[in-house]
Amino acid sequence: MVGMLVIATLVIRLLQVLGREKRLRVRHQRLLDSLGEGVYGVDAQGRCTFINPVALDMLEVTEAEVLGQDQHEMFHHHHRDGSPYMEADCPIARTLGDGVERRVDEWFFRVDGEGFPVSLTVSPIMDGQEVTGAVAVFQDITERKRMEHELMRLATSDTLTGLPNRRHVLQEMDHELARIRRFGGEGCLLMVDLDHFKRINDEFGHAAGDVVLTIWAALMRGSLRQIDTPGRMGGEEFVVLLPQIDQASASVVAERLRAALCGHDFVFGGKHARVTASIGCTRMMATDERVDDVLLRADKALYKAKASGRNQVVLG
Ligand code: GH3
Ligand code: MG
Ligand code: MG
Repeated sequence: MVGMLVIATLVIRLLQVLGREKRLRVRHQRLLDSLGEGVYGVDAQGRCTFINPVALDMLEVTEAEVLGQDQHEMFHHHHRDGSPYMEADCPIARTLGDGVERRVDEWFFRVDGEGFPVSLTVSPIMDGQEVTGAVAVFQDITERKRMEHELMRLATSDTLTGLPNRRHVLQEMDHELARIRRFGGEGCLLMVDLDHFKRINDEFGHAAGDVVLTIWAALMRGSLRQIDTPGRMGGEEFVVLLPQIDQASASVVAERLRAALCGHDFVFGGKHARVTASIGCTRMMATDERVDDVLLRADKALYKAKASGRNQVVLG
């Protein structure tokens, strides 16, 4: 970021010497051409006055196509999600308006319509108190964004099954409960614990147990709605957050999950194995003050399912 500011300053200096000292101008121009960052300048109306080769490469345009054109219309006419991006909201237009430097993450478009994320620094070019233009220095941050995304995924998911982890699922429950308390409606929570799982490990080995957990996660994913969140609380304990559903429908979902696991034919080293799950199903209500209230009820229902012989759904 500091580098980008230095570049912007350099460019502004370049503009100041333009038409003054040819030797200095050539040196600055070479520097500008050899930078790793994309750089372009605009006049007070937002029209492109210069652009360096790196920017041309990244935006896949020629200098002739850009010079004299409105940079906003060319490079960020839309937001990433496709919604229109008013020129008045564009950081470059805003800097032209108030003379304030800006550093933002933005989304630029190539002429062919393909977009990419950039880190953008906009510096005003001042003539006394008057803003006569601006310099935009930008870097393609596709890789940085990909890594941020990957880090986020790692922080929120369970490594074995890829399901949302305990922390993430509790957070989702928190949001859902807040939504119910504020806007009404209802949702449900399933608390799932695989039955006699220790026996699977003992009989077929820990690796086989891991396979069961992974397949169970896939079975859940396969039979839930897009808005449902299955999560692994730890070990062989799972929860499923079912927003916007009444308990009768939630118990149908729970029963479908139970039957899917129970009916799955696991084969380890030529030997067949069946795995079952006990499930507690409870409503999430506006009267629940905390997520713990919901978890406690679901836990009690699960305990009843275990005590009543396992491999069943109990409402609580
Ligand atoms: P119950 O029906 O009462 O739930 O019996 P259970 O055997 O499932 O319950 P228990 O809590 O006694 O044992 C849970 C077992 O789950 C013990 C533990 O080794 C196993 N387990 C927990 N996490 C993992 C894991 O990540 N991989 C494997 N393979 N086993 C796990
Ligand atoms: Mg358990
Ligand atoms: Mg168990």
